[in-house]
Amino acid sequence: MVMAQLIVAGKNLGPHPVVVPIRSTEDHRPLPGITVGDLGPKFGFNAMDNGFLMLNHVRVPRFNLMQRYITVSRQGEVSRPANIDPKVTYGTMVYVRAQIIRTMSQTLARATTIAIRYTAVRRQFAGKSDKPLAPSLESPVLDYGMVQHRLIPLLAQNYAMFATSQAFLQHYEKCMHELNNGNYASLKELHATACALKRWTSDVAVRGIDTCRHVCGGHGFSQFSGLNEFFGNAYPNIIWEGDNYVLSQQTAQFLVNQVRALRKGVRVEDNQTTRYLRKHLVSGHLPQRPTAWGAAIESLAADATAQLSLLSFRAAAMAAELTDQMDANGRSWNRSLVSMQRLSDAHSDYIVAAYFRAHIATLPGASPLLPILNKLATLLFLYVLSQNSSDLFRLPSAAAFTGAQVSRAEELLAAVIEDVREQAVPLVDAFGMSDSRLNSALGRSDGNVYDNYLLWAMQDPLNTQDTGEEVRRVWFDKYIKPVLHSAETSKKNAKL
Ligand SMILES: Cc1cc2nc3c(=O)[nH]c(=O)nc-3n(C[C@H](O)[C@H](O)[C@H](O)COP(=O)(O)OP(=O)(O)OC[C@H]3O[C@@H](n4cnc5c(N)ncnc54)[C@H](O)[C@@H]3O)c2cc1C
Repeated sequence: MVMAQLIVAGKNLGPHPVVVPIRSTEDHRPLPGITVGDLGPKFGFNAMDNGFLMLNHVRVPRFNLMQRYITVSRQGEVSRPANIDPKVTYGTMVYVRAQIIRTMSQTLARATTIAIRYTAVRRQFAGKSDKPLAPSLESPVLDYGMVQHRLIPLLAQNYAMFATSQAFLQHYEKCMHELNNGNYASLKELHATACALKRWTSDVAVRGIDTCRHVCGGHGFSQFSGLNEFFGNAYPNIIWEGDNYVLSQQTAQFLVNQVRALRKGVRVEDNQTTRYLRKHLVSGHLPQRPTAWGAAIESLAADATAQLSLLSFRAAAMAAELTDQMDANGRSWNRSLVSMQRLSDAHSDYIVAAYFRAHIATLPGASPLLPILNKLATLLFLYVLSQNSSDLFRLPSAAAFTGAQVSRAEELLAAVIEDVREQAVPLVDAFGMSDSRLNSALGRSDGNVYDNYLLWAMQDPLNTQDTGEEVRRVWFDKYIKPVLHSAETSKKNAKL
């Protein structure tokens, strides 16, 4: 299937899928005009034989154009079925991105399980942690603040990702049902949010796996950690199905267009994005008297609704600011790209938090899971604040945070992280990753890291009785013995 620009009578109708036979059905050799091959080894994902393809004056019958949504007649007339939005083919891309969002949760869960189990077992230094089991006992490295700050927010992001992926797939199915009934109203927002979430989840997962490798110290570098080959295989998710930086432009463009429509008083579709833009912006502009969000960080940390309101206000303010810069200040698209990726992530921070909170709200009021899940959601919120303080300082007038408020948010975050650390191991156990799936000597469910590591290492041919001994004997005879037992060495030894 080649995605090719469809040009009819000089008019470019955009990329469309065309079936292009590559090899002969007689002898499997490339057809005339086709050069094809494997594109060589990659950083990971080598089980997939990605290829290169060159087409030189290749012609295919008109019949090979996929014609569900467009038809070109023999006379070159272009027609589309009634009531079809040309952007309907975005639906397939959205589906693949929704799948990426789902697999990223599982991929990251594999890494956080290994890293949290290992750092709970690995001990280094006595007398340095705040809660030592005994003064003489070395502490598990997971008790060190810096290890916790690298792993525990990742764990909260992982939980939020699972909730987001489920909710977004349901949202996708609902929208596709509408699309199949000829209602395309939800398509643009679905596409924009799929781009944002694909970017957010794959960025968090890929950079998170790397953090998990690093946090395991030297053992993280071993193939027995289960984190290395797997990292290479997960990595392309930040590139394929649209490079993450390019995807952010799709989301930002949609948000800016909605702000422009609100400013013009044009009707916008009702969806989760326009709902928050409408809520916070007055006719598409920032309100003159915004809520003072930063007033009491403690009350924000205790109020899920206020947290969502602040996250959506931040995204709306950034969308309005970017629209001002482009429309009022004439800033070019290219010079807006940095703001666009920040805006896309602010949008995701809100959507992910909203899906996570909505998922938690489905649990019965007496569920024993509620306290820890709420804690994770608050942790995620405080983490967003601490990572994006420059956005908080820039919020309009009364809404802007002060330095003291940001410091307080950081203190609260540190306290919640320390609190969640106590349950970190059961929280990753709950992901239910089997030992065979983890394929890791460090992250096994029995916590028997060193015995398992040694067991695996002893299976290496260099450590086995037959091959290892034999290799060493040959090397000794060939290279070491002639030096150790040469006449010159014997003379030197005799003198000593
Ligand atoms: C392992 C692997 C498997 C793949 N499998 C498939 C497959 O099966 N089918 C398939 O069709 N494709 C496949 N791809 C291709 C993949 O979808 C593309 O590589 C990806 O979409 C990025 O496009 P590109 O390589 O052309 O990057 P480029 O567009 O060349 O981007 C290079 C750099 O320029 C930046 N950039 C480009 N344009 C802009 C812009 N307008 N504004 C700002 N920055 C920009 C990007 O951010 C990037 O950093 C695969 C890729 C990988 C790595």
